[in-house]
Amino acid sequence: MTYDDSNVFARILRKEVPARILHEDHLCLAFADITPQAPTHFLVIPKRPIARLADAGAEDKAVLGHLLWAAADIAARLGVAHDGFRVVINNGARAGQSVFHLHVHVLAGRDMAWPPG
Ligand code: AMP
Repeated sequence: MTYDDSNVFARILRKEVPARILHEDHLCLAFADITPQAPTHFLVIPKRPIARLADAGAEDKAVLGHLLWAAADIAARLGVAHDGFRVVINNGARAGQSVFHLHVHVLAGRDMAWPPG
């Protein structure tokens, strides 16, 4: 899908909207989810304008790997990695995606059910 840079995560990247930032580097930004679904819930987003995981191309492979590395590294720094954490990417409206800038959810601090709803 076409990337629309008026979405809220693009605005957070441009620092137009405040966020509780946990990590930033040349490829990604991580910040606390505004409506946490677990005691720890943060999002890791690429700086590149990718609307959905399905829109990532071969040129994005390194960025996709970096997002997962950052997710685990931040979880470790927050002290939640040992007990377990869940990583989720909702791709498309039917899967629950509401913000069309690719993001990795990281949830921790409670028991997780399977299968997810
Ligand atoms: P999804 O439904 O997978 O697209 O996830 C979007 C997530 O973004 C939800 O968990 C929202 O709570 C979160 N969210 C929306 N607006 C903001 C914001 N301004 N700051 C932080 N998280 C947000």
